[in-house]
Amino acid sequence: MIEERGWNLVNGERRDGPRAEVVRNPARLSAAVGTVGLADSSLVDEAVRSASRAQADWGSSSLADRQKAVLQGRAALAGASEEGQWARLLTAEQGKIDVESSMEILLGQMLIEQFVQDADAALGPDVLDDELGRRVVTRDPIGVVGAITPWNYPVVLSLIKVIPALLAGNAVVLKPAPNTPFTVSLAMETIGSALPPGVLNVVHGAADVGEALCTHPQVAKVSFTGSVPTGRRVMAAVAPGMKRITLELGGNDAAIVLDDVALDDAAIARMTDAIFMTTGQVCMAIKRLYVHRSRFDEVVGALCEAANSFVVGDGMEPDVTMGPLNNQAQYDKVRSFIFDAERRGGAVNILGARSAASDWSDGYFMRPRIVTAVDDSAPLVVEEQFGPVVPVLPFDDDEDALRRANDTEYGLCGSVWSTDTDRAFALSARLQAGQVFVNAHGLMALDLTCSAGGVKQSGLGRECGIDGLRAYTESRYVTNRRAM
Ligand code: NAP
Repeated sequence: MIEERGWNLVNGERRDGPRAEVVRNPARLSAAVGTVGLADSSLVDEAVRSASRAQADWGSSSLADRQKAVLQGRAALAGASEEGQWARLLTAEQGKIDVESSMEILLGQMLIEQFVQDADAALGPDVLDDELGRRVVTRDPIGVVGAITPWNYPVVLSLIKVIPALLAGNAVVLKPAPNTPFTVSLAMETIGSALPPGVLNVVHGAADVGEALCTHPQVAKVSFTGSVPTGRRVMAAVAPGMKRITLELGGNDAAIVLDDVALDDAAIARMTDAIFMTTGQVCMAIKRLYVHRSRFDEVVGALCEAANSFVVGDGMEPDVTMGPLNNQAQYDKVRSFIFDAERRGGAVNILGARSAASDWSDGYFMRPRIVTAVDDSAPLVVEEQFGPVVPVLPFDDDEDALRRANDTEYGLCGSVWSTDTDRAFALSARLQAGQVFVNAHGLMALDLTCSAGGVKQSGLGRECGIDGLRAYTESRYVTNRRAM
């Protein structure tokens, strides 16, 4: 059994918090993964002050020096994680299967490389020298960035904030989710070892620690990933300080499957992954599926057949292809949506198999489900389930599907499935979402060179790409040009 200790990282040193919390394995609730030391407001204050001191020199260092340091951190991370212990630790604390944990750690490294590559174009100065004079546009660091992240992809979602903030010359205080504190702490300590002390700090804790970070007067920007209700609280907390803010929030992604879709094995595999990957706990998962009535039975049949091959259990076991949900609140929420769908007369297809080696009573296990015969008003359709259950709804014409897909407060991602590229792109242009995929959806279709984020209640601002890097800067210009 792994017995981890999670620590805060302040000014380059490991620090215990005043309280310790036991973190349980969601696939073996009777087993502790380890204990994490939770910070209080005075440790948050220390972390922010140390970040503020370190930022002055870091922010005035050259971009090339910052890129070099970040790449050293990436190399150290690749070395430290290559034996697979980090992936196993991530599986133990998060619940996702081993292969997904390895993928998350690899994706983190790819993201770092991409950010370093994009940094010259995004962060370098624009200089114009002409007969009217000179104008220099710079993108200056904001100062200390508070980053707050959830438990579904703790490593990647932290790196996606920390690395661009650092490259832009900011110092960072990261607050990860307290139920997945270990792998992300290792990753941050490893990257931090390549940086001056205090440039990258970690404080663990729940809402009180997040609030202390959001309201600290020396935090100039907050970058938050999580649910819509918490995003609203974060936005309210930073308003009095007029702090800069990025919000990456929940989604209720619709996939629209048109009558001319090609349903080959590869397409069904992509659709199945986009629904059930990480037990459905992916912000950009397919959460509602609208299928043209002429193809409805075929799509439901193919998805049921694919989902039936899942083996649900402890992600550490080699034959398991779907891990447990991460926590009790999530487990209860998904179950309540399923019970409600049943009460409404929905047809709930329970699929996949239980792993014989896993103790079903000792984890948040749930077999995948495909639900039909529910109407658009069911909570399973209206709200974000974030679990291994998806409603499939028929439609008769494309306009009706588009209207229903857009009839939501969310706007993270969407997808259109069709063999006609022009038709698919025309419909995609009218889907209200920050990113739309054609014949694919979500994490496996992500283009790391593009900026991503939500519209409507799904967020504010963008991460990744040029926009994602510039989100950690204030632009300003100096000029002696007299154009008028
Ligand atoms: P959450 O409850 O909003 O929590 C997110 C983070 O905020 C956690 O670290 C949490 O700590 C902290 N927090 C809670 N209350 C806070 C407060 N008042 N002030 C500051 N921080 C606070 O979200 P979750 O349930 O962990 O994550 C799932 C949600 O995240 C889903 O809606 C999912 O779609 C969304 N998500 C979005 C993206 C994206 O890129 N758009 C990516 C991944 C996930 P505690 O854990 O202790 O509450």
